[in-house]
Amino acid sequence: MAMMGAINPVLMAGLKGDDGWSLKDYVARGGYEQLKRILQSGMTQEDVISEVKKSVLRGRGGAGFPTGLKWSFMPRSFPGDKYIVCNTDEGEPGTFKDRDIMRYNPHAVIEGMAIAAFAMGATRGYNYVHGEIWEIYQRFEAALDEARAAGFIGQNILGSNFSFELFAHHGYGAYICGEETALLESIEGKKGQPRFKPPFPASFGLYGKPTTINNTETFASIPFILNMGGEEFLNLGKPNNGGTKLFSVSGHVNRPGNYEIPLGTPFATLLEMCGGMRGGRKLKAVIPGGSSAPIMPAEVIMDCTMDYDSISKGGSMLGSGAVIVMDETVCMVKALERLSFFYHEESCGQCTPCREGTAWMYKVVHRIENGQGKPEDLDLLNSVLGNIAGRTICALGDAAAFPVQSFIKHFRSEFEYHIEHKTCLVPKDVQWAGS
Ligand code: SF4
Repeated sequence: MAMMGAINPVLMAGLKGDDGWSLKDYVARGGYEQLKRILQSGMTQEDVISEVKKSVLRGRGGAGFPTGLKWSFMPRSFPGDKYIVCNTDEGEPGTFKDRDIMRYNPHAVIEGMAIAAFAMGATRGYNYVHGEIWEIYQRFEAALDEARAAGFIGQNILGSNFSFELFAHHGYGAYICGEETALLESIEGKKGQPRFKPPFPASFGLYGKPTTINNTETFASIPFILNMGGEEFLNLGKPNNGGTKLFSVSGHVNRPGNYEIPLGTPFATLLEMCGGMRGGRKLKAVIPGGSSAPIMPAEVIMDCTMDYDSISKGGSMLGSGAVIVMDETVCMVKALERLSFFYHEESCGQCTPCREGTAWMYKVVHRIENGQGKPEDLDLLNSVLGNIAGRTICALGDAAAFPVQSFIKHFRSEFEYHIEHKTCLVPKDVQWAGS
């Protein structure tokens, strides 16, 4: 996948694909100037955090929590090691932006993490990389070697009294390791299963020490925020939704790929940037924020702008910005069957509502899709999902329940048709086969 287009690019400005990732290229684009400025101008931790707060940079991993506020939770007077962790697990179906950042701009992640470490007084950092994407792990390791040799990482960075060690950690491909506490368990060498919260990682994180976890895009945005100033970054987007954001667009568009656009850009503009609908077909629905986000019918998403507040008002979530576009050839029962199978497979099995509920949801949707559905199945699905949402240790339970709930809510007639006629409302000869 590649960067396909942008409006006012920040993170991807001046990139040259595989030829422009190295330290030399990053420095030519103004890289590491902000780390230098912070360490050599006497800026304080509060100065840095305040600039990030002004930018209203909201966490790009999915939750959309304000980054500056999250940083301020880290206990600064804590004696001993404190950690920052970059979440490059990126396993959400539909999401493929962080791998492009790691491929084409890995030094922005490193500089962003070093600045974050300074602001929070962290001594060590880890970048947890998704297990199935070996290539970007190697790219990050190569960039780390360059940064270390140039004195941007390590002891007494650039002659200051600030020291910060950074390591890459390779996961093994389990979706649940993208959940922040499962990720910490995995780095510690344990089975990747979510922890009960509280305590939250800011007080009891990696190896029991204060830890802040941010997404790859979040860290990579930091040097640019410091460069242009928090207020200017905020103004690129809209109030409460600062800056530009990467959107991974997949599905039935002419040019799928990653697009960087200001938050607040109309969905219709993004669709146009992607070359419109493939084959000139009609838009049926969109999942705007990765597979965990509720599905939105065409008429709802077409009235929305791509930002946290507008999408939430439309009944879904911006999540990680993975936009899955579906045209009129998609059978909603089949699409939901595929999603339900994913969550059933990826549940870590630790809590009963999620372990048993995801299995039941898949089983029922599968039988509807295969012409064995019963009239009471839609009520059964609603009852099962009602017993999962909000009753589990981590958000995977909710993530599995939201698609089922929203697909039935918006496309109930397709499910009913399947149950009654034992076949699909969308004629089989035009139907998308899935992949
Ligand atoms: Fe594991 Fe699911 Fe419970 Fe999360 S909700 S801890 S994935 S069983």
